Amino acid sequence: MRGQEAVHRLRFGIDIDGTISQAPKHFKRLIDALVEDDHYVYIITGRDEGRRTETEEFLDSLCIDYHHLVMKPVDWAQTMPEWKVKAVRETNVQLMFDDEEPNCRAIQQQTPCLAAHVFPIPQHEAEIEELERISERRRRRK
Ligand SMILES: [Mg+2]
Repeated sequence: MRGQEAVHRLRFGIDIDGTISQAPKHFKRLIDALVEDDHYVYIITGRDEGRRTETEEFLDSLCIDYHHLVMKPVDWAQTMPEWKVKAVRETNVQLMFDDEEPNCRAIQQQTPCLAAHVFPIPQHEAEIEELERISERRRRRK
């Protein structure tokens, strides 16, 4: 039974900047559901290892739970899409969420992983924040 379960564990990769950072509540909900269902969640970021503590604290502040935080080596000399391709290959993720089109394109062309392009600003979140700002201004005027 355990062996069978292991086969069905999927591996997800999720970028931070422009992805989790743009829609933290949505990604928290998604990641919680994936972890709860026993799938692997790799946070794969272009931030370098020198920012590990800061980045772990950032994810903690959003209550984002995950299995591994994969960070770019400090001395990485190649491009960002090349880094993402390497990270996707090494973690064997099957679906990667990223806001940068060149990353998605490279992942999809050079690995078996499916890349899901997250648009930089989710409109509904921006609208909700705008409505909150408007009502806050109204409250202050009273
Ligand atoms: Mg990004």
